[in-house]
Amino acid sequence: MEEMNGISGDDVSLSIYNRKIYFPWGNDIIIYDSTLRDGEQMPGVAFTPEQKLDIAILLDEIGIKEIEAGFPAISDREAKTVKMIAEQGLNARILALSRLKREDIDAAIKADVDVILLFIASSPLHLKYKLNLSIEEVERLIVDSIDYVKDHGIIPSFSTEDSTRTSIDILKRFVKIAEETGAKRVGFTDTLGCATPEAIEFLFSEMYRFTSLPISAHLHNDFGLSLANAITALRSGARYACATVHGWGERAGNVPLEQLVMTLQYLYGIDLRIDTERLKELSDLVSRYAGIDVPKTQPFVGDNAFTHESGIHVAAVLRNPRTYEPVDPSIVGNRRRIILGKHSGRHVVETKLKELGIEVNDEELDIIMNKVKELGERKGEVKDDDLIKIIFKVRRSHE
Ligand code: MN
Repeated sequence: MEEMNGISGDDVSLSIYNRKIYFPWGNDIIIYDSTLRDGEQMPGVAFTPEQKLDIAILLDEIGIKEIEAGFPAISDREAKTVKMIAEQGLNARILALSRLKREDIDAAIKADVDVILLFIASSPLHLKYKLNLSIEEVERLIVDSIDYVKDHGIIPSFSTEDSTRTSIDILKRFVKIAEETGAKRVGFTDTLGCATPEAIEFLFSEMYRFTSLPISAHLHNDFGLSLANAITALRSGARYACATVHGWGERAGNVPLEQLVMTLQYLYGIDLRIDTERLKELSDLVSRYAGIDVPKTQPFVGDNAFTHESGIHVAAVLRNPRTYEPVDPSIVGNRRRIILGKHSGRHVVETKLKELGIEVNDEELDIIMNKVKELGERKGEVKDDDLIKIIFKVRRSHE
């Protein structure tokens, strides 16, 4: 395999079939994080202003270039929080969401953000049942809103909501008007997470050819395709991709930030200049503030992401971790865990005992092995404390 950015080394060993794939924006791809907006729309989650600021600061330190800090129109407190984040002087640009309504835009202007993400639904379903607006009425709103944002010296971005259920002709009509009025970027959304990667490829390629504005992608995960769709959107010409920590957001959520970063940087060799070694720290912070545990199996940041139990795996990992870990856990700030249980082999029990500074003879090891497997069958996991108790018992019965 051709090495990509020198990432195949002692710490990384990826599929030999991975190839350098062409991304129109290459290393200039920008991930914009929406943990503070869409992430907070996860049922049951509400961050305090201080928590939002902490998360924004950490995102900025890690190298995230854009932070969607909130939806200022929803409340005074939200608007103040967005303003507080905007006033921190972070390197990241601060974005705020706004409907095509004067009061929304005013709230975003007052919050002093760099970019206002104007959006309006474009699908026939939403136009009829949600907005009760005609295409012509939407067009007038697009012009008025972009003009208004521009007049206040803020960068206008224009997105259609529910783009993947909107005809390409309507999307082009809206984009053309937005571009002519002075939008600086346009966004397309898979609001229901119901598009295939092929549909995303069609939509974004078509729009990449159609407009000279940079394109952003806001994608949901209802079918579990958000990450694949984000990669596809970027391959098809998008420059900006929205993500949230753990993919947390409305319903089944969004694109998981840590997976998008790792996939782009390691599987596709794109240099996003993001400090991946703090991804676990970011995950812990967001989980603590959201009051929601990270699923153990969450890629990269979950407790099980680098945990080994089965004897065969553990023995191999102890000889060379790359046998069962594609990247070293330190790359994402996680750590390796060796768990004893019913699948444990002799080698790992011996290693564990050595770690604990306990010496046993062969006969004792046989008995300990059996007890570990027995307890593992019953409890699933044998913790260090359990192992020490087992050794105690075995020794006592021998005295
Ligand atoms: Mn969303």
